[in-house]
Amino acid sequence: MIPVMRPWLGEEEAEAAAGVVRSGWVAQGPRVAEFEDRFADRVGVRNGVAVSSCTTALHLSLHLLGVGPGDEVVVPSFSFIATANCVVHAGATPVFADVEAEDGNISERTVEPVLTPRTTAVIVVHQAGVPADVGPLRELCRDRGIALVEDAACAVGATLHGRPVGSDALLAAWSFHPRKLLTTGEGGMLTTTDPALAERARRLREHGMDVSAAARHLSRQPVLESYGEVGFNYRMTDIQAAIGLVQLGRLDAMVQRRRELAAGYHELLADVPGVRAVHDPVHGTTNYQSFWVELAADFPLSRNELLGTLAEAGVSARAGIMASHRQPAYAGHPHGDLGTTERLTDRTLILPLFHELTEAEQGTVVDTVRRAAGLRAAS
Ligand SMILES: *Cc1c(COP(=O)(O)O)cnc(C)c1O
Repeated sequence: MIPVMRPWLGEEEAEAAAGVVRSGWVAQGPRVAEFEDRFADRVGVRNGVAVSSCTTALHLSLHLLGVGPGDEVVVPSFSFIATANCVVHAGATPVFADVEAEDGNISERTVEPVLTPRTTAVIVVHQAGVPADVGPLRELCRDRGIALVEDAACAVGATLHGRPVGSDALLAAWSFHPRKLLTTGEGGMLTTTDPALAERARRLREHGMDVSAAARHLSRQPVLESYGEVGFNYRMTDIQAAIGLVQLGRLDAMVQRRRELAAGYHELLADVPGVRAVHDPVHGTTNYQSFWVELAADFPLSRNELLGTLAEAGVSARAGIMASHRQPAYAGHPHGDLGTTERLTDRTLILPLFHELTEAEQGTVVDTVRRAAGLRAAS
């Protein structure tokens, strides 16, 4: 089977992990500190705080903002369910906003109708690596005294108005799950433009301790730590960070290869009627974390039938991005009109796209879609 995604990992990652094991210091330590600095640098933001996942980075963001019971947080339903879950973890209520058909992201246009006096935060997702146009949304939130958090789980290497996504984000959350471009097995990062928020996040991810375990270990004098507030264990390990450092060095090549493969899809699918493929929005560039296509209503096969046809041809495609409001976990949750969300979640599928996908494999994917549409194979 041609998988929908495969992480790009090599001997260098294996060696880096082994080096940490041999060093005897495997928990959060010098590799984590180095990974935080290098990652923040790459994103163009001053402060990086490594954590255990994007989900915990999102929860920590809401906690830092003081979001809690009685508060509403606007999120897209059209996202992996963790975006909504972190709001519940904070004790608040997720309110679902619709997305734009063009990029699959919430906007000032879709968020405005669901704001209420109880709205304290909005989480904008750069869905599938396509940058959301954050500026107008940020203005809307600023006018109403609402905080804006960026779920950049999928967006490392994407750009917005010529700068890396997240570079001017008060709080952005990143994922290093193997389904994303850059992986540490599991892992996440919180980036922030505010050094005070970063400092508090560092304590909160480590049980609220005012001296990190690594700093205490390095000190020649006994250090007595104190716990100023109730924290969490959201730490990343040095084993993960060592892998992340190698992965970070591969990022430019990853994005370049993905964009080449996406251009290939665009070319080979251009003449297929009823197929609309994800592309760069006018305001930025995507890293093509997921290459989704939307089938028009008059495409000869339904989305699920096409997934079946692809599977028979040895291609592991996937249904498009989920709609959280349809899951039993969110039955009865408040939302506005979610017409575009429902259309996209029902009519999109994700085609294989990963660093080591070969042109021949891509040809198999494309020709299966072309034949399903009644056209001749391209290869
Ligand atoms: C993957 C993903 C998450 C969760 O990331 P984890 O690191 O697995 O917690 C959150 N939001 C979005 C949009 C994602 O795609």
